[in-house]
Amino acid sequence: MTIHSAIIDGKPITGERSFSVLNPATGIEAGRVPNMGAAELNAAVAAAKAAFPTWSAKGDQELQAACAAVTARIEAHAEELARLITLEQGKPLNGLGSRWEMGGTVAWAGYTTALTLPPKVLQDNSEGRVELYRKPLGVVGSITPWNFPVMIAIWHVMPALRTGNTVVIKPSPLTPLATLRLVEIMNEVLPPGVLNVVTGDDGEFNIGAAMSAHPDISKIVFTGSCATGQKVMRSAAETMKRLTLELGGNDAGIVLPDADPQAIAEGLFWGAFINNGQTCAAMKRLYVHESIHDAVCDALVAYARNVPVGDGMEEGSVLGPVQNRMQFEKLSRLVSDAKERGLVLLGGEPGEGLFFPPTIVAGLKNGDPLVDEEQFGPALPIIKYSSVDEAIAFANDSANGLGGSVWSSDISAAKAVASRMQCGSVWVNKHGAIQPNAPFGGVKASGFGVEFAEEGLQEYTNIQVVFA
Ligand code: NAD
Repeated sequence: MTIHSAIIDGKPITGERSFSVLNPATGIEAGRVPNMGAAELNAAVAAAKAAFPTWSAKGDQELQAACAAVTARIEAHAEELARLITLEQGKPLNGLGSRWEMGGTVAWAGYTTALTLPPKVLQDNSEGRVELYRKPLGVVGSITPWNFPVMIAIWHVMPALRTGNTVVIKPSPLTPLATLRLVEIMNEVLPPGVLNVVTGDDGEFNIGAAMSAHPDISKIVFTGSCATGQKVMRSAAETMKRLTLELGGNDAGIVLPDADPQAIAEGLFWGAFINNGQTCAAMKRLYVHESIHDAVCDALVAYARNVPVGDGMEEGSVLGPVQNRMQFEKLSRLVSDAKERGLVLLGGEPGEGLFFPPTIVAGLKNGDPLVDEEQFGPALPIIKYSSVDEAIAFANDSANGLGGSVWSSDISAAKAVASRMQCGSVWVNKHGAIQPNAPFGGVKASGFGVEFAEEGLQEYTNIQVVFA
């Protein structure tokens, strides 16, 4: 099988060692990628460092034009990238799958290209002139997870490039293929060294760990689990790196007593099961008022029962397999406790390979593992509550604080509840919606810093104030 190349200083690199990437739907090897060590990482960082003076000296319009050219290249290759995402990640091509991910990728790339952070005049009078400038940071290290391999890569890379930084990106070892191709495509229109990609299997040499400690990387933008985020933060301290940490979530949804179970069933389902639940801001716990608990369970089960699960490359599949064995086993462990207690309303039985059906469980409480831990898979626990204060207390009883939602026929009542939830994003009658002009980020153990919009762009700059 051919080895997909990494790119350092504009050149394809295969290296001496490689590792295998599996198609989660079939278990068959989907490709091999370079298993890089310290020498390759250092070469990538050196290339990005060498490219920085020229790239950062470009004017705002020149950077904007370069980012527009990059966006056009990505758009032209959207279908090819979507197929690679399905091949290695498992999500279906259609619906809210890999073509949808590519639609988002292009939209975010375009929106970020159009943003600008012009200098500000803070004061201009007889006492002097004070100006505020935004300066690029230097080399940005991007570390990405396996759930949205291309869209998250673009969330990191485009604002970094747009503000004059150069980049070394490291995809998850589970889904590197689409990222390698993405970077190759982008390099067709970028100068050598501006965007580099390195890959490794997280074995003997952990590239992400080495990036977090690297003296020539000025910032790490990391999307992944809380545990790894903490490691990144610890090692970044030595070199005082800037950090954006987009970490795990355990998002709660709260259904108020006046909600219409039939009307919200589809929204609840997709809020929880988008990308097979392997989404940072998916709904991972659902609190339902006791007066409509059974009706909501019935409506959700009726909807979920008809969702076809299968190989993402096949036309009719709406949900694909779980992406990897570790995740599959974690999910099976969390669901098995509910199964033993007879609390599974739908699903619960692992299928062939990495297939796991949409699973709905009722009767658990806070403190049970499936409620407290981020399951990051197709299983949703539904928990009964009796007063709104109790529901809010249950929802906030979590180390995480990424997203949350409130479901009701009364928007003002829902907003009042929403404002009491401890999380970075909160939705009414939907869950997980994001858009490029709305900053996105977590509170508590879900990390810090935001992505998207002007606020997200600012995170790739230092402020310099000039008093003249
Ligand atoms: P992970 O933490 O296992 O891996 C993420 C990345 O970190 C991978 O590229 C991995 O190779 C790298 N890595 C491994 N060890 C490292 C180390 N010591 N130092 C630095 N990097 C290291 O996470 P995952 O399993 O790939 O992704 C799933 C998690 O990501 C879930 O918890 C999910 O909620 C979270 N996530 C969060 C967001 C968000 O925006 N908040 C978005 C997507 C996923």
